Amino acid sequence: MTALPPPSPKKLGLVIDLDTCVGCHACAVACKQWNDGGQFGPLPVENPRGAEPFGVWFNRVHTYEVGEGAEGRTVHFPRSCLHCAEPACVTVCPTGASFKRAEDGIVLIDEDLCIGCKLCSWACPYGAREFDEDVGVMKKCTLCIDRIYNETLPEMERVPACVSTCPASARHFGDLGDPDSAVSKLVTERGGYDLMPEMGYKPVNKYLPPRPRRDGCGADAAKAAATDATVDFAAASPLLRWMDKLLSR
Ligand code: SF4
Ligand code: SF4
Repeated sequence: MTALPPPSPKKLGLVIDLDTCVGCHACAVACKQWNDGGQFGPLPVENPRGAEPFGVWFNRVHTYEVGEGAEGRTVHFPRSCLHCAEPACVTVCPTGASFKRAEDGIVLIDEDLCIGCKLCSWACPYGAREFDEDVGVMKKCTLCIDRIYNETLPEMERVPACVSTCPASARHFGDLGDPDSAVSKLVTERGGYDLMPEMGYKPVNKYLPPRPRRDGCGADAAKAAATDATVDFAAASPLLRWMDKLLSR
């Protein structure tokens, strides 16, 4: 089994705005394109033009209709590795292939050490690990570690591919361990929350809840969350309780 490093003050991660995400899948495609061409490529795609294409995607966008009548709305939910602070996907790994970086908290996989046992995917409650059947190893989001520290790129491009591509600016990247960073301030202002905190994985990535609708429908819990950062949105909102339930299946 694999040990975790001591908690790092630097916690790189994503903040994803469920209010502004339009479900266009640009982030998922940009992720696939960037990682296809890098150390992972090519990432397999099976039955690409069929009714049910599948394969390895580090970032997936799910779309749901939530609520009914005046309370109903469409929610687009992008899902990728949350780079958890206490990830059992790392500690269950028998070979040390899965590891968490001490310097910035990014969770990675050393493919040379992976034996393809899939224990980590069983341990991840967020469904964020992707097994590559073609090469027999586990893969996942790296936060585009080969972009964010790449000094040959212009500084503005040193962000994950999904962040640089999102046309709705629904994805933000930064140090969630620094309370003064732009992403930390965004989380505080908008009542950002952890997915399934009850699992104890302490995900670094945060989600920003949908804002109240302009017509006021279904707004009570969202309004409270938007104006009071101390509100536990997941507890207050039927929408996010529902999302937690869905992920818990
Ligand atoms: Fe591990 Fe899953 Fe957390 Fe990513 S989201 S660090 S794969 S437990
Ligand atoms: Fe570790 Fe690979 Fe097994 Fe996952 S599949 S637990 S990374 S050896």
